[in-house]
Amino acid sequence: TGSVIIVGAGHAGFQLAASLRQGGFAERIVLLNDEGHLPYQRPPLSKAYLKGTGGPDSLMFRPDKFYQDNKIELVTDRAHAVDRNARKVALASGISLDYGHLVFATGARNRLLDIPNAKLDAVRYLRILDESQALRDLIAPGMRVVVIGAGFIGLEFAATARGKGLEVDVVELASRVMARAVTAEISEFSQSRHTEAGIRLHLGVQVTAIEASGAKVTGVSLSNGTHIPADLVVVGVGVLPNVELAAEAGLPVASGIIVDEHLLTANPNISAIGDCALYTSKRFGGSLRLESVQNATDHARCVAARLTGKTEVYDGLPWFWSDQGPDKLQMAGLTTGYDRVVVRGDRAQGAFSAFCYRGDKLLGIESVNRAGDHMFGRRLLGAGGSITPEQAADASFDLKSALA
Ligand code: FAD
Repeated sequence: TGSVIIVGAGHAGFQLAASLRQGGFAERIVLLNDEGHLPYQRPPLSKAYLKGTGGPDSLMFRPDKFYQDNKIELVTDRAHAVDRNARKVALASGISLDYGHLVFATGARNRLLDIPNAKLDAVRYLRILDESQALRDLIAPGMRVVVIGAGFIGLEFAATARGKGLEVDVVELASRVMARAVTAEISEFSQSRHTEAGIRLHLGVQVTAIEASGAKVTGVSLSNGTHIPADLVVVGVGVLPNVELAAEAGLPVASGIIVDEHLLTANPNISAIGDCALYTSKRFGGSLRLESVQNATDHARCVAARLTGKTEVYDGLPWFWSDQGPDKLQMAGLTTGYDRVVVRGDRAQGAFSAFCYRGDKLLGIESVNRAGDHMFGRRLLGAGGSITPEQAADASFDLKSALA
């Protein structure tokens, strides 16, 4: 294979370097890191870390010594251009590196808001450690924050901020929270929990402008004419995959860097993994681009296996979690295209799962405070299994018996 150069040291890039060494890969590994920290975990940035738990070290995958011990060259630099014919990557610092195999693990970046005053200092985003740190240092009881976007990150931020005594308004264009990702059952439950916690939800409306007095944010205006006073605005309106470098290198890109079922691009010496990769899914048919730790790390393991001689088709089962206030949401499988939802557990008690079906086929399970159902779903769906809607609805049906 020759040297492996990994562009990006997030969940995918880090895992690839680690798995390559674990799998006995003996050649050079360069892990390009354009953030000013050792590679770290992102999920706590909107959860425990934002709350104030631990220092930056608590987020790091591994200490510095791990990279030295494993001969992983962690290079603080950005890949600037790729020459596919010469198999070279030019770095921002001017250095050029030769590769045997190149892996794009470039992730995604915040989608920026494009409305008046969106560039003011009190308009913030939450993707990287520095942004989480800045918000953690900034938020204080009594402060008024408007969160734009009721996706996972917006709601996690909102719950944490409310827990810290801020006044929180959340504005969402869709008619329910997390509308693209979860069933109405879970959205409704989540909405009632956030409302009970004192968060004000504004659904089916858009923020049309951020209002300011000089450089100071004073509030936001909504499409329905409402004005919400605010000291701080936090934007969580999704991300854009970092595909530009691949596109400039002449590789096909669409809503991600296009890779096949082996996570290989159109060039046999270049792969793409994690949030930036639009891959051909054997499990679901068609192309998928997912944004999750599971996707990033399972992609990484698949490419590491290929580069150490154990080529396999990527077939990871998607799963995800989100902590919002006291509630733990977990998803197993992909529920796209479901036509029927069966609830198991007790909504009133705040512990239930939505089993999503197309016909009689179980597509995925969304759980709230039901970790057992989630783990069951991962095992069952991972093995290609299903249970009937009647079994799912029957509290006396023993899920474990379906795994035997
Ligand atoms: P990233 O983690 O984005 O890493 C890509 C890296 O590449 C970045 O460091 C980037 O700066 C770098 N890079 C880009 N271009 C270049 C270049 N040209 N040269 C060098 N480096 C470059 N997922 C879950 O499953 N559960 C959760 O609870 C959860 N919570 C989240 C909370 C937050 C606040 C965020 C932001 C994400 C969360 N996610 C969660 C999603 C998860 O973190 C991502 O799916 C995961 O980080 C993707 O990993 P990645 O390596 O593909 O991309």
